[in-house]
Amino acid sequence: MNCQDYMMSTKDLKRYNKKDFLSYASGFDYQIDIDEGNITGFKSDDEIKQSMKKWKINEFRDFYGFTHKNNDSGYELDARNYKCLDCLTTLKPDYTSQKNNYYCADCL
Ligand SMILES: [Zn+2]
Repeated sequence: MNCQDYMMSTKDLKRYNKKDFLSYASGFDYQIDIDEGNITGFKSDDEIKQSMKKWKINEFRDFYGFTHKNNDSGYELDARNYKCLDCLTTLKPDYTSQKNNYYCADCL
């Protein structure tokens, strides 16, 4: 375990659920991103926020690029296919080789 792994132990990182992502999203206004074409498929900030209510958890993870976040430091981690999303132990290579296997054997 290296220093960074130790610093980012499970107690520091919150696994974002849908409610967390929606709350996080409410802090942003996406109108400029939409107008400038950085976000496509939506016409307004209101439209994307309405759409988000129906998003699945992985859509939030893809959009924001993280699964876990430290709300104090702002540190974001995308642990998919790398660490167990429950306990954040590093997955063994035989797990990461399996697509969409996000959990260690103990948490499955
Ligand atoms: Zn686990």
